[in-house]
Amino acid sequence: MNNEIYDVAIVGGGLAGLALSIQLAKASYRVAVFEKEKYPFHKVCGEYISFENWNFLEELGLPLSDWNLPSIKRLMISAPNGDFLESELPLGGVGISRYKIDTALANIAKTNGVSLFEQNKITEITFEKPVFTVQSTLFSCQAKMVCGCYGKRSNLDVKLERDFILKKNNKLNNYIGVKYHIKTSFPENMIALHNFKNGYCGISQIEDNKFCLCYLTNARNLQLSNNSIPEMEKNILCKNPFLEEIFSSSEFLFEKPVVISQISFEKKTKTENHILMLGDAAGMITPLCGNGMSMAWHASKIAFKNINAFLKGSISRHEMEQEYADEWNKHFGKRLSAGRLIQRFFGNQFFSSFLIRTVKPFPKLITYLIRQTHGNPY
Ligand SMILES: Cc1cc2nc3c(=O)[nH]c(=O)nc-3n(C[C@H](O)[C@H](O)[C@H](O)COP(=O)(O)OP(=O)(O)OC[C@H]3O[C@@H](n4cnc5c(N)ncnc54)[C@H](O)[C@@H]3O)c2cc1C
Repeated sequence: MNNEIYDVAIVGGGLAGLALSIQLAKASYRVAVFEKEKYPFHKVCGEYISFENWNFLEELGLPLSDWNLPSIKRLMISAPNGDFLESELPLGGVGISRYKIDTALANIAKTNGVSLFEQNKITEITFEKPVFTVQSTLFSCQAKMVCGCYGKRSNLDVKLERDFILKKNNKLNNYIGVKYHIKTSFPENMIALHNFKNGYCGISQIEDNKFCLCYLTNARNLQLSNNSIPEMEKNILCKNPFLEEIFSSSEFLFEKPVVISQISFEKKTKTENHILMLGDAAGMITPLCGNGMSMAWHASKIAFKNINAFLKGSISRHEMEQEYADEWNKHFGKRLSAGRLIQRFFGNQFFSSFLIRTVKPFPKLITYLIRQTHGNPY
């Protein structure tokens, strides 16, 4: 037992958890972050960050301007048969690996006094008014507030018997994500989304002249390929001529890809047994929107405001939970619905070609659709 009673215990040291911890520590709260992995480490993610986050991230202390990151201003979308369109991105973004940015945020958190416990997985959280007890693989501690920032899917979702975990396999769940870093020849200022049967693959530049190649597909594609990723890439992804070119001509920098499974885009609750959920633990936007990271960071700002008011005694626990859920839905509800709708056109030979041919002559319509899945600087 760690005898300290923290103001806030945060489960998961990813984007939402670390950003929240930094804001709380700067406001002089005692904060513990529990992360099951050890920094630095790779994560499945397309690693494209919308510019809407720029000011917020610099305020947290990230020296983005010094990093000379590739600025991404154009979008290309291709259908499995090679039909494609290109468009300006209304706001644009930068490319940076999760290896680099998560580690930098973890260092800023530690510098600001956050107790960051790495290789420390949370196994149980119980609430007995007025405090939570948080049990990890190494010790237990108490906290006035607990935030679930543990990402897409975790052991705790099962423990908490969350609704989305109990759903049978359907069109919104049971996806897998695969990521590589590669060296290749591709324009620095562009992000491409290449469709293949039941999936899509993104490519864009990150730091040090490397590129992130990351795709989402359903588990069925893997089963059809004898559970072999190389076989799936050869027989399904590479039917798209752009992907064929990338896979055959690039240098792959990892020995093996980073892979995650059981990804779900189902609706999720914003609080569970008084635990405030942030980032993917509160709801996941389809990756083709390239906006999940923005939602994780923006949610941390909303959560900080409400937790601060609660810990200062200006609002009750119930008011904090309600206010947070309302603000979350106000900012992100429409984006999630738009993402789910657009996703229906992706990964399908007929619909993706149809979408490309229909919107290609109307650049303003493309900009409008992209805007529906993004927010403004906050
Ligand atoms: C294929 C794919 C491509 C994507 N591409 C993009 C993109 O280009 N741009 C974009 O903006 N978004 C993208 N996203 C979405 C983005 O990756 C997520 O929205 C973002 O990582 C959410 O951050 P988070 O803090 O909620 O979770 P994470 O960053 O996943 O952090 C959660 C952390 O919790 C830890 N953890 C889990 N369980 C426990 C536990 N029990 N105890 C302790 N620690 C625990 C994990 O190790 C992890 O470090 C993509 C997603 C996918 C699947």
